[in-house]
Amino acid sequence: MTNSHKADQAGWNLDNSYARLPETFYAKQKPEPVDSPELAVLNIEAAEELGLDVEVLKDASAIFAGNELPEGAEPLAQAYAGHQFGHFNMLGDGRAVLLGEQITPKGERFDIQLKGAGRTPYSRGGDGRAALGPMLREYIISEAMDALGIPTTRSLAVVTTGEGIRRETALPGAILVRVAESHIRVGTFQYAANFAETEELKALADYTIERHYPELEDDENPYLSLLKEVIKRQAKLVSQWQMVGFIHGVMNTDNMTISGETIDYGPCAFMNAFDPSTVFSSIDRQGRYAFGNQPPIAGWNLARLAETLLPLLHEDEEKSLELAQEAISEFPKLFHAEWLAGMRAKLGLFNAEPQDKELIDILLSKMHEHGADYTNTFAALTFDKPEETDLYDKPEFDRWYAIWKERLERQEETPEQAHELMKKTNPAVIPRNHRVEEALEAAVEEGDYSVMERLLDALLEPYAHSPEQAEYAKLPPDTDEPYQTFCGT
Ligand code: AMP
Ligand code: MG
Repeated sequence: MTNSHKADQAGWNLDNSYARLPETFYAKQKPEPVDSPELAVLNIEAAEELGLDVEVLKDASAIFAGNELPEGAEPLAQAYAGHQFGHFNMLGDGRAVLLGEQITPKGERFDIQLKGAGRTPYSRGGDGRAALGPMLREYIISEAMDALGIPTTRSLAVVTTGEGIRRETALPGAILVRVAESHIRVGTFQYAANFAETEELKALADYTIERHYPELEDDENPYLSLLKEVIKRQAKLVSQWQMVGFIHGVMNTDNMTISGETIDYGPCAFMNAFDPSTVFSSIDRQGRYAFGNQPPIAGWNLARLAETLLPLLHEDEEKSLELAQEAISEFPKLFHAEWLAGMRAKLGLFNAEPQDKELIDILLSKMHEHGADYTNTFAALTFDKPEETDLYDKPEFDRWYAIWKERLERQEETPEQAHELMKKTNPAVIPRNHRVEEALEAAVEEGDYSVMERLLDALLEPYAHSPEQAEYAKLPPDTDEPYQTFCGT
């Protein structure tokens, strides 16, 4: 029996409901075969959740590379548009092919997408390919985000292609097998509103509601409900990013999902010292997507989504606009409520008091002023070791600390309960940039995946606070070079 026959028995249960949308939304596109695919990483937990047989998948590199198609695949590239750094462009899957949706044993539906699968009608000048380093980076960070409890696309596998790709230098090629509740983006709606008929826009909205928000179907105005629910999910999502210091780096509207999953791990990175102006991406010179700008940018992106829905919100244009504006104006409030609730939990607070915002703001401003590490400061407070923070001997910190302790005493919950809450909300480890780089270097340069495996072990239980994780909580050695990430993914 050849590998291909075996691989087909992995438990694939594919349907492509997206292919039943009007044709304008996609181009049928097979992945372009590669020279010699080899499995680099396989995500056993994700495979099992998808109902796939891990042993069979170990021989499935030809399928993961797109050289062979699993039964039921209906490969296509999705059309979408989007605002990139504020400028509107027609985009689309230029290097990704959606095979279909895997229906899991629990009856859930997940997109299976091959990223780096070759050119498509939307490739413009691009080669349709991806490099190994960035695909492993997406694997590590998306899995770390999932473990942190943050909605995200996931990574089922990475295969190397045996082909070189040209970037600034020659790099080894790879394909990432990405799993998502869907790949419908704000940019998909922008595509529909700008390049399709209203009937087609309506078909997309109906499809999205059926797939992600079926409880809204019978609402009086399901399209307005859809908008409001996406706004809610994004408020929650971005507040979760802020809780762990995640900087997405390229919050273009095509990189914002309707499902509320984090997507597109290009130039993302985690902040060390707390500073709202932190930017890692080499192409974000203006700091548009800096840490502290993520909430207003999400609001801006959602306003672009609202605009696309205007023809569906009400037959009267003015009324439509009013409804959209009203929905959008809720975003800052929703975000703030999520943020405040999240921050309270990080400080072990179960109830709300009016001064809490000030308590949080003072701590953050001290952290900013003294360059204190975001993750480690909260982790030290979790274990009531203020002496381990960079704030300990700083003016007024003892006062802040005393006020916080008094605040904790005023709530019904015990110190032990507060500690447990803080352990669940303050990670021991995040994917520190220097650790991620180290893991990628070993894998890409030496073919040594053990560094990445050890890093993943630490990242996959971020709230364990185990002794083995201490190593990964350490800050990078001092360097003069600010850390930079690149979009040349
Ligand atoms: P991203 O920066 O990954 O969000 O991608 C923005 C747009 O560029 C999307 O339409 C991608 O499909 C496209 N793109 C990125 N890299 C490539 C590539 N190597 N070949 C073709 N299209 C690409
Ligand atoms: Mg993208």
